[in-house]
Amino acid sequence: MRGGGDIADLNIPHSPSICNVNVITHDKLYTIKDDTHIVISQTKADELGLKKGSTCTIIGRRRRTATATVKISSKSKANTVTLSRNLAHNLKLDTGDTVKILPSQSDDSKPEPASAVGLSPTEESLNRLESLNGGDELTEDDLTERFIQPYLESGNGNLQVGHLLTLRDVDGTTCDFVVNSITTPSTEDQTSTGSEGSVEGWDDVEVNVEEPVQKPEDAVGYESVGGCDKAVKLMRELVEMPLRFPELWTAAGVPTPKGVLLHGPPGCGKTLLANALVEETGAHVVVINGPEIMAKKGGESEQNLRNAFEEAMKNAPSIIFMDELDSIAPKRDTAQGETEKRIVSQLLTLMDGLKGNVMVIGATNRPNVIEGALRRPGRFDRELDIGIPDEEGRSAIVKIKTRNMRLAEDVDLQQIARDTHGYVGADVSQLTMEAALQCIRENLKELDVEKEEPIEEEKLGKLKVDMSNFMHALAI
Ligand code: ADP
Repeated sequence: MRGGGDIADLNIPHSPSICNVNVITHDKLYTIKDDTHIVISQTKADELGLKKGSTCTIIGRRRRTATATVKISSKSKANTVTLSRNLAHNLKLDTGDTVKILPSQSDDSKPEPASAVGLSPTEESLNRLESLNGGDELTEDDLTERFIQPYLESGNGNLQVGHLLTLRDVDGTTCDFVVNSITTPSTEDQTSTGSEGSVEGWDDVEVNVEEPVQKPEDAVGYESVGGCDKAVKLMRELVEMPLRFPELWTAAGVPTPKGVLLHGPPGCGKTLLANALVEETGAHVVVINGPEIMAKKGGESEQNLRNAFEEAMKNAPSIIFMDELDSIAPKRDTAQGETEKRIVSQLLTLMDGLKGNVMVIGATNRPNVIEGALRRPGRFDRELDIGIPDEEGRSAIVKIKTRNMRLAEDVDLQQIARDTHGYVGADVSQLTMEAALQCIRENLKELDVEKEEPIEEEKLGKLKVDMSNFMHALAI
């Protein structure tokens, strides 16, 4: 790898608003009320001009924000902020992450007061409560009385659609609710993910219990990429950090990196990694597919490239993802026609003129055919080789690809990782699908698919992918 380095190598200058995250489980230490609080040290509070009880805005990953009230603790480390588990979940944060905290300047920065809030209990909580209740279902009134009412009496804060709230009754039994809708006078009944409203006292807020929902799962992020821990770490340093905290680079007096070139064989996870970054940073994404751009006639290819760069700059922070970069930017001396030469030059001009918080990620299976001028500092100034995974890498990928599968007890995932020498992620993915298909094939007769009725739960429950299914898939 050219020009690499670890996060630890990066000399991140001190910036008062940037803190390390420490997530606490409020089960042990705090009551639910603390989902609206953060805990910081006196030193940090002084740096930020915050006092005990002041309001601040926390900017998490995936462009998630929340407002919270400041608590000061002498036990807090100088550069650490402590958040409740729910607040961390809502901000898509984990222990060890980095977060930005800003004092809430004025009432203007506060979301509009909510007039109605729709809360949906999670199915998992309802099932648990039902079995605790001797199998009797809980009505909306039960939920309101036991969980929502006590919360309304104690809580206040900034809610966003999609936020998870763990509410508890007087005995301490919990029920998870997802904020399903927030109505403010200006949105009327129009609500979407990310819409927010502040609630300060619930007297004027109508609270409705809505249909149960599944507990929200985190969208596809870094955890879906296996066997490339080093690449993920570097991408976080080279792309995520500059996109989320450009001020660190400004403070250090150096320009943020502009482009990263990912290379490796087809199916090794280049696109997957770029998608994970987009998801984790919440950046606007513009995808440029090399062969598609090249298929355009006349000056249309160049125009499309210009449009893509313009769109990215307008919607910054953005990521421009250029897949199959080799087809857009082959070496100029080997480029076949005038059009190709013009497009390479256009791309060089666009990358040099890139302004604002925009990062370009290029992906290619053939880094050596790419125009050398693109691989210079200020353009694709970093390169990352995502090679064929070793056994440890394959083991991580196998675990990811089978995590939602119903596996028989005899399945030995480590053995599968050992037997798949030379496989890339896409091959492992295909292998698991073949194994599942083989399992279905073997069970077809028993399942009696000719019948009109849905297959009985009991029979479906027996459907498990076993080691012989994987062996069959490996032999194909
Ligand atoms: P590339 O862009 O390198 O050609 P992709 O990222 O498109 O490859 O990979 C294709 C599919 O293979 C992905 O959608 C994913 O399902 C699987 N895959 C590839 N690499 C990995 C990996 N490292 N971890 C998990 N899944 C992977």
